[in-house]
Amino acid sequence: MPATCGRCVERRAVTKRPKTGDALCKECFFECFELEVHETITKCELFKRGQKVAIAASGGKDSTVLAYIMKTLNDRYDYGLDLVLLSIDEGIAGYRDDSLESVKRNELNYGLSLKILSYKDLYGWSMDEIVKKVGLKNNCTFCGVFRRQALDRGAALLNADVIVTGHNADDIAETILMNILRGDINRLQRSTSIVTGNGDDQSTIPRCKPFKYTYEKEIVMYAYFKKLDYFSTECTYSPNSYRGHVRTYLKDIESIRPSAILDIIYSGETLAIKEGVKLPVQGVCSRCGYISSQNICKACVMLEGLNKGLPKLGIGKSSKVKIIKPFTCRKNKCSCEEISKEAANTNKVT
Ligand code: SF4
Ligand code: ZN
Repeated sequence: MPATCGRCVERRAVTKRPKTGDALCKECFFECFELEVHETITKCELFKRGQKVAIAASGGKDSTVLAYIMKTLNDRYDYGLDLVLLSIDEGIAGYRDDSLESVKRNELNYGLSLKILSYKDLYGWSMDEIVKKVGLKNNCTFCGVFRRQALDRGAALLNADVIVTGHNADDIAETILMNILRGDINRLQRSTSIVTGNGDDQSTIPRCKPFKYTYEKEIVMYAYFKKLDYFSTECTYSPNSYRGHVRTYLKDIESIRPSAILDIIYSGETLAIKEGVKLPVQGVCSRCGYISSQNICKACVMLEGLNKGLPKLGIGKSSKVKIIKPFTCRKNKCSCEEISKEAANTNKVT
């Protein structure tokens, strides 16, 4: 580590940026980090003046830095946004209850109002209760599907125009890889967008990711140098998540080639879908009205399974939700097989 910052050539360097390799002092690192997020927000036109923005806050490092930086940039550059914190309590004892305490402290520290919605209130089930029924194999599928809806419902209650989430570049690269490994072209296409929910599926509130190009390591560094108050324990139920394996793989690649994260995002952004590939048509769930490509959305199918004591309903091979997938059978070289969708796409592990 060189003694002097490569940018101001004055102060002592305290970090080497994982993204660029530049040796920087603390002040220059803050400036570069904040400026990059500001540029992402302005170049991608993520917000309009006067909008109410719900910051999805879990109490973890990403959303804590997101809340802090949204407040800082909104004040500094006069975005004119009305910022509020929105938290989802999945009901995971020893994890979410503790992480929500740090969100509550940040509510006071940042002077932002906070709304908390729980799975128990919304669905009648906490994650602790769901895990007792489904075990540790598919828990993240339930959690991800329920969280997605819960955030939308919370944002609707707050009359928010936009939801911002703390998904960082590593998360997005992971999601791209996961969708490639699953052959999920529809989600692969969506996973690279910085804004989702404002195009074909207008029944949901737009979501955006100001950290799309921000490395996780830099978020951790920023939180550390700024001494932000966040909760860093992993979810009790996370070790079995599919994403965990992809994450480990990505970290291995990143250690050899740091640019791999942005390169994967670039590859995902520029992939074109072959003509003739059928993509699901988005409609609304006939039961709850939430966006869905099926008659009944995944959350409703899962909830019904839980309530009827058939928790595997909506998951894997026992799913009633079948998707015809283009598949060439080896024998006749025709498209003859119906494949049930494998335990669907979970969301970000928070
Ligand atoms: Fe939910 Fe994340 Fe825990 Fe899985 S790891 S159960 S998605 S909070
Ligand atoms: Zn539904």
